[in-house]
Amino acid sequence: MLFALRFFLLLSFLAVLVIEGAALVQRHRQDLPWTQLDLSAAPGRFTAAKIAELGSDPPRCRALLAQAGNRSQPAPSRRPSETCGYEDGTLLSLDIAPAPAGLVTSCPVAAALELWERQVQADARNILGTRVRRFVHAGSYSCRRLYNRADGPFSEHATADAVDILSFELDDGRRLSVLRDWRGGSAESRFLKAARDAGCQVFTTVLSPDYNDAHRDHLHFDTADQGSAGWRACR
Ligand SMILES: [Zn+2]
Repeated sequence: MLFALRFFLLLSFLAVLVIEGAALVQRHRQDLPWTQLDLSAAPGRFTAAKIAELGSDPPRCRALLAQAGNRSQPAPSRRPSETCGYEDGTLLSLDIAPAPAGLVTSCPVAAALELWERQVQADARNILGTRVRRFVHAGSYSCRRLYNRADGPFSEHATADAVDILSFELDDGRRLSVLRDWRGGSAESRFLKAARDAGCQVFTTVLSPDYNDAHRDHLHFDTADQGSAGWRACR
């Protein structure tokens, strides 16, 4: 009798453990390396790496964007040389409109921006009490090496896997520029840093004025696939 009771208690305990465990995994799906990427869910520990991996699977990248309600469209591919170009060009359609309009990036950059802008709008509401209407950019695709050097590795811009953001235009008409508003403790400065930090959740490499003088006037976001090395930068 006592044995049966103990057995029953043990079984109940195990059942609770399994149910709680399953719920925990469900809540932290985006924190686990083996779960499917979901662009509607808040980013987790492995989101940036999973987005970078989409570079090798454009159809899946496009499907995930569509699933999340993003209306970005495929753009014609470009392959001027072995090191430059892209096959997964994506004409961006975002809630925070790129300015100038007509920005084409690789599909993983579009996927990362889809997640990024949700966090940015939340931060704008909390810190500035308004919404962001546009981000002003300095382009994505550019066939060049790092820091425009004559030799050395090519930039992620050479495959449209990067975007440079210069400033933001708010619904209330304010303009915030990385060059002018980064420093200090103003709300504008806090918002710009929050926009950088939101980038760190979804891009593998993020470089800001805190990194070096070459980035004093823009945020560089890219989706370089670092593979199993998993190297990331958020500076
Ligand atoms: Zn850049």
